[in-house]
Amino acid sequence: MKVLLTGGLGYIGSHTAVELISAGFEVEIMDNLYNSSINVLDKLKNITGKQIKFYKLDMCNLSDMDKMFKEGCFDAVIHFAGLKAVGESTKIPLTYYETNIGGTINLLKCMEKYGVNKLIFSSSACVYSTENVPPYKESGILKPINPYGRTKYFIEEILKDYVNANPKFKAIILRYFNPIGAHESGLIGENPNGIPNNLMPYITRTALGKLDQLTIFGDDYNTPDGTCIRDFIHVVDLAKGHLKALNKIEGLSGYNIYNLGTGHGYSVLEVLNSFNKVCENKVKYKLGKRREGDSECNFASSEKAEKELGFKTEKTIEEMCLSAFNFEKNNS
Ligand code: NAD
Ligand code: UDP
Repeated sequence: MKVLLTGGLGYIGSHTAVELISAGFEVEIMDNLYNSSINVLDKLKNITGKQIKFYKLDMCNLSDMDKMFKEGCFDAVIHFAGLKAVGESTKIPLTYYETNIGGTINLLKCMEKYGVNKLIFSSSACVYSTENVPPYKESGILKPINPYGRTKYFIEEILKDYVNANPKFKAIILRYFNPIGAHESGLIGENPNGIPNNLMPYITRTALGKLDQLTIFGDDYNTPDGTCIRDFIHVVDLAKGHLKALNKIEGLSGYNIYNLGTGHGYSVLEVLNSFNKVCENKVKYKLGKRREGDSECNFASSEKAEKELGFKTEKTIEEMCLSAFNFEKNNS
């Protein structure tokens, strides 16, 4: 099966490329390099021993997308490409709607024209309402609270409508929780430009002295240690979830949603303590104010993905911390 990965040079896409190639899939990658580097392509070759065909293009350009589809003859698409910074999305919402939603509509138009009818889409836990009681089930209330989250929610709705209108089309929506960590080779990992928004790259860069100190956003939540709780999942486990979905999609029909998480929550302080322990570090931190829009506690119900996809995470929080630090050291 030949699979197109949109946004495949990014953090999750690159790890998924490795897993798919190792499992014998033919992979091609499209990315406009907005939030990734062309060097990742060489690193993927290093890890897999395979040269991957790459299309540098913007999914908002329909005619470029059309040309790629004409050439590619893909059997399925995994759609990672998009903008993902929550804070930025509140400042430039139109860019987020145009890129994430406009790009997805272009993708669907091309898939329709060239008869590609299997899609796996990267959605997010941020589509859930904080009214849900964790563990969050796929059937929970949806109420994203920022423009980024709303792009994911609207795309899910668009896909539902599209599937209803096209019975041959199969879509799997994967709602990711908090991916962290990196490939064991230390060659690929999360490498945000500028000051990281996310917890783990902030910790690893502080540990290496690239940043002064971590601020923990709030220690007065109603949780055992007062800090927020999240479902941190190793990016390699998450990548393997895509393999499970791809292997299953032929036998499914219509529109299907799965959470990809571990089913367990760790607090921000627990992650920091695990990092300090396994990486033999003492990351400097201060306790700060709550970050606007953060939910107190969320973690996935992983039951449906386990039962229907056979998806089960394997890696521990310690492995997540060690691999993230290893990648950061390699990329200093
Ligand atoms: P990433 O930014 O590392 O990867 C996304 C890739 O898409 C980048 O390589 C970027 O250059 C590319 N891209 C952006 N706009 C594009 C465009 N117009 N045309 C072509 N390529 C474009 O992000 P990631 O962490 O790998 O996330 C992948 C997907 O998973 C995204 O859709 C994201 O919203 C979603 N997601 C991520 C997380 C997370 O915590 N990382 C959580 C939930 C969902
Ligand atoms: N966090 C923090 N300091 C940081 C970055 C994040 O305390 O510099 C906290 C954040 O408040 C949240 C958790 O870490 O409770 C995970 O945040 P992240 O941005 O990584 O993911 P999110 O859950 O927001 O998608």
